[in-house]
Amino acid sequence: MTDERFAKDFAAIDGLIRSHGRFLLLGHVDPDGDCIGSMLSLASFLRARGKQVACFAPGGMAEIYLELPLAGLFMREDELGAFEPDIVFALDSPTTARTAGPAIGGAGVPVVNIDHHPTNELYGDINVVDERASATAIVVYRFLAEVAPERITPEMADYLYLGVLMDTGGFRFQNTNAEALSMAARFVELGARPYELAHEFIYAKKLSTLRLLARSLESIEVHSGGRVAAMHVSREMIERAGGAMSDTEGFVDYAASIDDVELAALFREIEEREIRVSLRSRNNHDVASLAEKFGGGGHRNAAGLTIHEDLATAESRIVAALEAMLAAGKGSKS
Ligand code: 5GP
Ligand code: MN
Repeated sequence: MTDERFAKDFAAIDGLIRSHGRFLLLGHVDPDGDCIGSMLSLASFLRARGKQVACFAPGGMAEIYLELPLAGLFMREDELGAFEPDIVFALDSPTTARTAGPAIGGAGVPVVNIDHHPTNELYGDINVVDERASATAIVVYRFLAEVAPERITPEMADYLYLGVLMDTGGFRFQNTNAEALSMAARFVELGARPYELAHEFIYAKKLSTLRLLARSLESIEVHSGGRVAAMHVSREMIERAGGAMSDTEGFVDYAASIDDVELAALFREIEEREIRVSLRSRNNHDVASLAEKFGGGGHRNAAGLTIHEDLATAESRIVAALEAMLAAGKGSKS
């Protein structure tokens, strides 16, 4: 699908790729499936064209992604300085603060910013940000389809499919639109494996992850007559159940799945006074704007932020803000 809005940008990016050799691909902190899929599909494309590629995202990848064929391209932070890129790509990364800030804009290296977050700060020399796209992987695909459709391999299609699969929650979230579904079909035609990817990244779970989920399900509390739900994962719960904080991708969906819940929050205790908050909404409630008030961001129906308080305080502050939002938005259901 061509997109008139970005035709010039795609041509400019193609020009940068043709005339340069070393590419650093950056993602956001604790990269999710869309971030990783977008990075690795582009990495695969660049490598097939004989380019040097390195990938980096702060926090590193969750264990489930480590088996991906190109996962080895991800560098540790201390290796980052040794790779001097000609061009930096940032993928699925709305802010430089949550990406690898120092690697962006350093030494006059051009930055290409490809994303779908409405809160994107447009910090690139070229910005291709389509907030209507369900996943950044779709924007990456549009670029590839525009400049070199014959070069899209089954491996790249797998990574692109992974991005759409994870960002739409397995084609269930409110961002699941006609384009997401037709792109998924396109990726399968190009060689993506829908069953294997759904099995590996959505269905299959480690026993320790299920035990951790069980504990965090028990932590669920509802407020505002059942319309707001909060759950948490403390460091103590991780110690008891085993596993890691990065195993909790998708936990918040359980709180959001409860009948009558319109606003859901998951609180993850990264450090004693560092709480990662994931917000989800149904109907017209805009959790991105709430997240922004606390220095975070995201999408209307899925956003996040970090609070430097203890777990209980973080939980009560955010729950109060969610309840206030609900009270202010009476009758705003879509
Ligand atoms: P999650 O809850 O899955 O971590 O994040 C939901 C969405 O909000 C994702 O699109 C993610 O990139 C975005 N997001 C999460 N935390 C933050 C944050 O602290 N700042 C910004 N700008 N976006 C965030
Ligand atoms: Mn995304």
